[in-house]
Order: sequence, then C-alpha cells, then structure tokens
Amino acid sequence: MSQTVKMALELVRQQIVGAEAEANRPAGAVQLIAVSKTFPADAIREAYAAGQRAFGENYVQEFSAKATQLADLDIEWHFIGPIQSNKTRIVAEYAHWVHSIDRHKIAERLSAQRPHHMPQLNLCIQVNVSGEASKSGCAPEEVGTLARQIAALPNVRVRGLMCIPEPTPDEALLARRFALLRDLRDRLRQEGFDLDVLSMGMSSDMGLAIGQGATMVRIGTAI
Ligand SMILES: *Cc1c(COP(=O)(O)O)cnc(C)c1O
Repeated sequence: MSQTVKMALELVRQQIVGAEAEANRPAGAVQLIAVSKTFPADAIREAYAAGQRAFGENYVQEFSAKATQLADLDIEWHFIGPIQSNKTRIVAEYAHWVHSIDRHKIAERLSAQRPHHMPQLNLCIQVNVSGEASKSGCAPEEVGTLARQIAALPNVRVRGLMCIPEPTPDEALLARRFALLRDLRDRLRQEGFDLDVLSMGMSSDMGLAIGQGATMVRIGTAI
C-alpha cells in the first residue's frame, strides 16, 4: 500500500513537471492538491510521509474527522466541496483554503467564524464555466461583484478562481473552459484584485489545465 501511494504521487508529480515544460512554464508553477476524499486517514499519512503537504477534502463531516485525527501533521487543508451554510464553522476552524465559494453568504459566515488567532482563510471563487451544462459555481458575469463583496470581509482573502468543467472527451472544449477562467482572472487583476491562483484540472484533464495556466491541480483518482 505505502509503495503504491508513493509511486502514484511520484508519477503525478512527473506528469506535472512534464506539462509545465510543455507549456513553457517554470518548474514549480503548479501546486499539487492531493484529493483525499474517501481515502482513510492512514493513506493521508502515507502520502505525507512521501512529502505531500496539501490535501483536498469535499465533505464536511469527513474533513473534520480527518483534520482531528491528523492534527499532529503539518497539513495544508483545502476544502473543495460544496458548503451548506450550517456547516461553515468546521471549515472556518480547520481549513487553510476553500476553493468552492460561489455565494457571498458562505464567505461572510466563514469570515465571521474564522478563529482570531488563525491567519485569514484563503478563498477561491468557483465559476460555472460550462453554462447550462453545470449548476455549481457563480456565473462568469457575477464574479466581479462577488470578489468585491468578499474583499470587504476581514478574515478571508480572495486568492483566485476555481472551476470544474462538465465531463467531456472534447479537449478543445475543455481548453476553452479553462481559458475562460484564466481570462476572468486576468480581468479581475486589471481591476486591481491581487489574484495568484487558478485552481483547475483533475486527473483526466490536468495537462490541458496546466497548458491554460492552472496554478493548482486537484488530483484524486490518479493517486
Ligand atoms: C473529487 C474531486 C477532484 C479530484 O478528481 P479526480 O478526477 O479524482 O482527480 C477534484 N476537484 C473536486 C472539486 C473534486 O470533487
């Protein structure tokens, strides 16, 4: 088991390095978020022993259980799943990043519930880049308003944008979805937002996303 996790991680890291080079981007431009949903805490320990520090979780209950069990490790926790407003407290108390913000109300609660001794919670706004083919994420034309609202909150900080395109074998379409997220990020930067993160790319489309400027890829199945 431990060899498997370690080898899978090494393979994914090599693929990231390859995709960075192919896109003429510097080595280290892309951070790997190991998506550990449904994996037991022991598997996370193995990945940690193999050098992985950033992990992504989708479900609040599962996340709080693992964050508690693994409190002895210096893990950077990324919450990447949908958050109901009655579940924000746990996320505010344990996460370092939340990638799935698509409503002001959730950001507002996370800011209010962020413990004062902790640094600001880093947020990515999730954007629906697929139109009617997808339901999660805010509409592209709402991103600016949402970013301005969140920027006014004291204990959270907007760091970038995130997307999950609709599943499709059409690589040209996927590339356009990722390019749209990058263009939205560039526009917000021109408006003065200090955004350094594009969270896009999963096991099946990581290379495409890196080609379009991803700075974080969220990889589960391949590990
Ligand atoms: C599960 C999940 C991933 C990882 O997807 P894989 O295809 O397993 O790599 C990435 N992002 C989100 C939001 C997820 O829910």
